[in-house]
Amino acid sequence: MRLGPALIEGGRLNPGYLKLDLYCRGLRVAPDLVDAGLVRRVRAGLGSGLELCLSDSGMYVNAPVHEAFAHSSPYALRASSQTGSYDLLRDGRALARVAVAPAPRFYGRRTTSGKRMDTIGTIQGTYLGIYYGGLCANWKAPSEDACRFCGLGHSGERTNKTAQDVIETALAAREELRITFVHVNGGFDDREGYVHRFLPLMRRLRDETGLLSGLQLPPLADPAAYHAIREAGVNNVSLCFELWNDEAFTHACPGKARRAGLDRYRESISYCARDVGFDTTNGELIAGLEDPAASMAAIDWLTDVGAIPTVCVFRPLVGTPLENRQPPRTEEMVPVFAHTYRRCIERGLPIGVAPDLRVSIVLTPDECRWLLPPSERERWKLRRLKHAAMRRALGWRVRRRVRKSRAVSP
Ligand code: SF4
Repeated sequence: MRLGPALIEGGRLNPGYLKLDLYCRGLRVAPDLVDAGLVRRVRAGLGSGLELCLSDSGMYVNAPVHEAFAHSSPYALRASSQTGSYDLLRDGRALARVAVAPAPRFYGRRTTSGKRMDTIGTIQGTYLGIYYGGLCANWKAPSEDACRFCGLGHSGERTNKTAQDVIETALAAREELRITFVHVNGGFDDREGYVHRFLPLMRRLRDETGLLSGLQLPPLADPAAYHAIREAGVNNVSLCFELWNDEAFTHACPGKARRAGLDRYRESISYCARDVGFDTTNGELIAGLEDPAASMAAIDWLTDVGAIPTVCVFRPLVGTPLENRQPPRTEEMVPVFAHTYRRCIERGLPIGVAPDLRVSIVLTPDECRWLLPPSERERWKLRRLKHAAMRRALGWRVRRRVRKSRAVSP
């Protein structure tokens, strides 16, 4: 009999299982934590919860707290005597020590154009996430094209950021928190030349901050644009097709289905992963809105073309058409996340190699190893050592780039 993963294994907490369980069950918190401005609703909404760091593992998790299901969660926080430290309780019993991530100091600073930096970018784990560009075309359309799970239009996200605002905010985050990665997204847009508005920003991020960068994109009509993005210094591209089943995709993402369609997402991901030379290409999925078997089929396809799956757990955000839907059950999500790790490793994909990068809004593919049965987890130790060596080498490269950028623009 093969024993599966569990929250407690041999008397020890499984941090990956806990992270997944928090996404699926949410967290009850005292109102003062919410009122303290620690819960932020920005970008499309996955970061709408409370940022926690699981003290023993160093894993970050953005735990849902606003949504109805979170109000009956078995998880709750109890303040401990140490400032900023909490006991995470499950059914009233202390399970782990966690830290609530404090708001970074740079959030209160202003860019030279006078905008508060917390309206420019958000720390999600240990990286800086930036929404850039105008409002997503699907939110602008008169015909309810917005993805049904998306909270962008309710988030108050600022849409008049300049490249200079972003650079100043990234530099402030780099100096205060030693971040290594900036992720930029701009919703969906199918206008010709759309991506060219991102290129000057991405070039400046590389040259003036030295940080690694990622750009989330819709499918682009001209394949040459992907090469221009790579030449602008972008390390990672991601495309969010969200759902594998055509009917589920059309229902949940009417604008994306009408303006692009699943096939164009697949073609673009495959092209980026095979022909452009990005360090990594990601395909983003939401698990919990379709059968787990469909999510696993998407993971198979992605890893076959050389792309890395980013799998989010469906969160029924308040104010969206799906707010009354339940999130998936942890037990049905375990095989999906275990499959993510297994497939990435079997295909030799470079997971967990970005230096000092921890992510709060999803389980990273590397963290998905915790959802394997314990005996299988051991099997991939050598591969993990290889990835650790790659991470050190990349860390050295980033530090060198940062030093160089400081010399150019102190
Ligand atoms: S593409 Fe969909 S998920 Fe992304 S910002 Fe637009 S409406 Fe939201």
